[in-house]
Amino acid sequence: ADWVDADDAENVSEQNLKNHITYLASDDLQGRLAGSLGEKKAAEYIAKEFTKLKLKPFVGKDYIQPFEYSVKLNPHEDGSSVKINARNVLAYLDNKASKTIVIGAHYDHLGLNEHHNSTLMNSEGQIHNGADDNASGVSAVLELARQFSQNKTQEKANYVFALFSGEEDGLMGSKYMADHLPNGAKVDLMINLDMVGRLNKDKDLSVGGVGTSPIFPGYIHQYKPAGINLAIDSSGVGPSDHTSFYLKDIPVLFMFTGTHSDYHKPTDDTDKINFDGVRMITNYIFGLTNALSESEEIPFTKTKMSESKSVPKYKVTLGIMPSYADTKDGLHIDGVTDNRPGSNAGMMAGDVLTKIGKCEIKEVYSYMECLAKVNSGDELPVTVLRDGKEVILKVKF
Ligand SMILES: [Zn+2]
Repeated sequence: ADWVDADDAENVSEQNLKNHITYLASDDLQGRLAGSLGEKKAAEYIAKEFTKLKLKPFVGKDYIQPFEYSVKLNPHEDGSSVKINARNVLAYLDNKASKTIVIGAHYDHLGLNEHHNSTLMNSEGQIHNGADDNASGVSAVLELARQFSQNKTQEKANYVFALFSGEEDGLMGSKYMADHLPNGAKVDLMINLDMVGRLNKDKDLSVGGVGTSPIFPGYIHQYKPAGINLAIDSSGVGPSDHTSFYLKDIPVLFMFTGTHSDYHKPTDDTDKINFDGVRMITNYIFGLTNALSESEEIPFTKTKMSESKSVPKYKVTLGIMPSYADTKDGLHIDGVTDNRPGSNAGMMAGDVLTKIGKCEIKEVYSYMECLAKVNSGDELPVTVLRDGKEVILKVKF
């Protein structure tokens, strides 16, 4: 294609982002399930873009880094696990610099919900296109690969453009890459983009990993585009691939535009993407990365685990399917499973859960925190909003 010559290196092309997302999130790729034919097609598309840019492979002879893992399809039954043969796609831009920066995003998604990671009940067989999760992040990495490889000025860092598979099954691809860096390779910084396609009207962008280097807070504010509001999370541990690098003592940054009602559902489609938002975020990372590449060093700091939004451990469940809508007025319930504490107490799809006992629920994270305080056998009043009215139900956990 002629876009390689048509655009300049300094500016993000919104058209390129749109083309990448539209293709990766099309029904042709069947939801890009790790190990599937759709995943392979997506990997081939990414590799073709890298070839156009004349990038080198990072490991081995081509861009593909194969790896395998197994998935338990029925977590409640014993045995039955399937082996998944998946592939990362990794390219290297060698600028003969002393620093190396990995810019990554996962390109796999849920396929037809074969691995049961969907948040929509009974969605087996429906294509989960994953336009936001995470064709959006992949489009940004491909565009940054174009910009950095066509930049006339010699960059102050080498770049690895890393598109991971197996993320949806538990950060499998990024773990594999971080565990199998080529001999002598040292990574100074990893930037992860996972779900950057839904920048809202207020332009709220969440940036994770800010506590993993003392120089990050200054940089991320200085290079922030006008109009964007940053929500800062200092933890290096989070629900995406940067975690795999943080755990190797590498400073990380994580860009994320937030959860929404289409999260992990077949309705996460291209028509809901805010392309101008993806452009702004890509442009932000381009400037930020350029600046960070020029800093003397990027020191690493360990962050407190407690600051992360990792899942608290709980002993009981309500048997409800939460919506991941980030509305902050409570936990919206998409579905209720029969014969479980929730349905037994009369909870219904459409209810908004606001309290378990005295513990207040604003979204899915506080829901998990409240649930972690309950013991099996406890009987507690549970408050829901139903048609705008407060209803208190007695739940036996
Ligand atoms: Zn996901």
